[in-house]
Amino acid sequence: MTDLATHQAALAGHLERHRAEGIQNLIGGQTVPAASRQTFATTSPVDESHIADVARSGAEDIDDAASAAKAAFRDWAAWDGAKRKAVLHKVADAIAARADEIALCECWDTGQAWRFMSKAALRGAENFRFFADMAPSARDGQTLPSPNHLNVTGRVPIGPVGVITPWNTPFMLSTWKIAPALAAGCTVVHKPAEFSPLTARLLSEICHAAGLPDGVLNLVNGFGEEAGKALTEHPDIKAIAFVGESRTGSMIMKLGADTLKRVHFELGGKNPVVVFDDADLERALDAAIFMIYSLNGERCTSSSRLLLHETIADDFEARLIERVNRIKVGHPLDPATEVGPLIHQTHFDKVTSYFDRARAEGATIAAGGTRVGDQGCFVAPTLFTGATNDMAIAQEEIFGPVLTTIRFKDEEEALRIANDVAYGLTGYLWTNDLTRALRFSDALEAGMIWVNSENVRHLPTPFGGMKASGIGRDGGDWSFEFYMEQKNIAFATGAHRIPKLGA
Ligand code: NAD
Repeated sequence: MTDLATHQAALAGHLERHRAEGIQNLIGGQTVPAASRQTFATTSPVDESHIADVARSGAEDIDDAASAAKAAFRDWAAWDGAKRKAVLHKVADAIAARADEIALCECWDTGQAWRFMSKAALRGAENFRFFADMAPSARDGQTLPSPNHLNVTGRVPIGPVGVITPWNTPFMLSTWKIAPALAAGCTVVHKPAEFSPLTARLLSEICHAAGLPDGVLNLVNGFGEEAGKALTEHPDIKAIAFVGESRTGSMIMKLGADTLKRVHFELGGKNPVVVFDDADLERALDAAIFMIYSLNGERCTSSSRLLLHETIADDFEARLIERVNRIKVGHPLDPATEVGPLIHQTHFDKVTSYFDRARAEGATIAAGGTRVGDQGCFVAPTLFTGATNDMAIAQEEIFGPVLTTIRFKDEEEALRIANDVAYGLTGYLWTNDLTRALRFSDALEAGMIWVNSENVRHLPTPFGGMKASGIGRDGGDWSFEFYMEQKNIAFATGAHRIPKLGA
């Protein structure tokens, strides 16, 4: 039986170590401070209390980590796939064994509610298991005979890679990137978000203790403009897997241009959930609420725009208002809490600025629109109604527990509104008309579409976005396409004649 007090007591034990030791880097298997000895503080969004001092790393630390990753690469890439599989399964076992500790630290560091983080930590273990099982076949290819050659294709790991992650569900997202990179045979330099360094430290410790050789996974903490920039520009880092804001992705693309960096981007979203009048409205309501108010709305795949057919809109909104007003905002470690505090004050200011914006644009704040309490970054789950698609609340990624409803009169208008944004990550359709579902899905500009469902991640399927939402796909073999180079070796058969020059 878990409750807030039990969680708080357990967390206190875990935090003591982070506070006493600080959050250092892990480079070449050694725990080290930043070369400059500088640190910055990470604080909790629950009460703004100090959690720990974190290494404020720069170009020198990144250079050390890239050298360690480069030195470890040849050996690691040459490991037999079955051996790599075994060590990655050990990592998964250790994550599962420490899942509660990971979840508690994540809740405190990010403000995410326990009910979701306890599952997210275990999903991190699943990510490792899934890619561990793929490690033995990562290099597989084909034979493609041509008239005078036998072509043998195969894949080789690209080299040391950089993984730059954001603060929303940081543990789960980091495993999603790091597990396939390691399974492919790459070595990694991980730069986690400055606002949520705790669980990146736990992950690097776990990997090290599970038997990953020194230098295979390196952790460098710090700010994006310092450590993140240096990682992106480093000539020994062959690729950058980045999850974060679209404008940061654009910056990373520029910074990586001189070294011809391969990039994989998972960026922002302004995802539509489209409810037609023939849908199962009860299920649609549950899914729409879950997809925007779970994880504090700080999720790239959130259904932040609700497009309602005009004949069902009044009733649907009335039921929505009732439910939104009942969502439990509270301490993230309380198992009853559904929405916790936003990650930090600047993000809180950004999210709450849309309350005035909505009023100024002529929308209605039908629920929420206020802060909760007078300490920490808590906001009330908020619903804007009466919006049109040209409003900022319909176009911009707010990244909080804030939903905007827009009405449509027919399928054509719904599609036009759904596609009329810069982003193209996910879409959610609610209809019992199969032909319409297929037609609409085909025309919807989004990398991932769910019909009559909330977002359910299935690891073998491709995950990623179109337009300003990203470049590349994760999941299954798509992950290996990014972390590996395809290679073709052509063997000439006896019949092959070489053109003679100067004969
Ligand atoms: P962010 O872009 O501010 O930061 C992400 C990471 O990039 C951090 O580690 C940061 O330090 C680093 N960074 C910042 N500037 C950099 C620079 N110049 N060079 C190199 N690195 C730099 O994003 P955030 O606010 O931490 O995260 C929220 C964003 O992430 C949202 O837009 C959300 O939609 C997006 N996201 C997308 C997905 C997806 O799968 N598409 C998943 C999760 C989050």
